[in-house]
Amino acid sequence: CGIVGYVGYRQAAPVLLEGLKQLEYRGYDSYGIATRSNGIFIHKKKGKVSDFIPEEATLPGTCGIGHTRWATHGIPSDINAHPHSDCHDQVAIVHNGIIENYSHLKRELQAKGHIFKSETDTEVIPHILEDLNQGNLLKAMQETVHHLEGSYAILAISGDSDRLIAVKNRSPLVLGIGDHEFFAASDITPLLEYTNRVIYLEDGDIAEISEDGYTIYQDSVLVSRAVHEIEWTPD
Ligand code: GLU
Repeated sequence: CGIVGYVGYRQAAPVLLEGLKQLEYRGYDSYGIATRSNGIFIHKKKGKVSDFIPEEATLPGTCGIGHTRWATHGIPSDINAHPHSDCHDQVAIVHNGIIENYSHLKRELQAKGHIFKSETDTEVIPHILEDLNQGNLLKAMQETVHHLEGSYAILAISGDSDRLIAVKNRSPLVLGIGDHEFFAASDITPLLEYTNRVIYLEDGDIAEISEDGYTIYQDSVLVSRAVHEIEWTPD
């Protein structure tokens, strides 16, 4: 029910786990994170993120995504927890919302030989990405969303480079703009510890984010979005 992403110079896993704790008030049944460093590393389970043990925060890498789940399709379980990956762990994604046409998509993918691990609607996304990814995750995502019906905020990473892809359609998603580091989250609460500069993504936006900067597209057309400075004082 909440998502967080990070790319920059810090170790991603502790940033993600702390961010998920900030989103705890939204309520959820499971949580998980994925990081990238010479491949993809995933840790996910049923339960409360506030109970996580410190060893969980040792996943390597300075780029990653995290999720707290409020199950809509598939029971709360370790396997149904996000992130979800493709058959070869080339990509990992987290998703808030519902993919309404997932059963049709899942049947098509299974007919092509894709093996599904979970019962979620979400898992169709990494499998479609896997089919369309020719080494450019942004392009693959721009094509993947054409197949999806429903509401979604999605964050994706791939094993080959430190970059985040963020997608918004009828579920909230904001970017946090730091100095050589960037954040994505369902709302601003996890970002405020690091930056007060935010972008509210609009429906149909697809952002590509690396530690060097970000670009935002509507479909494949470059767009610009206002950066808002949030005024707040730490307690
Ligand atoms: N529909 C997805 C699931 O059941 C995502 C739920 C959520 O937004 O937490 O796994």
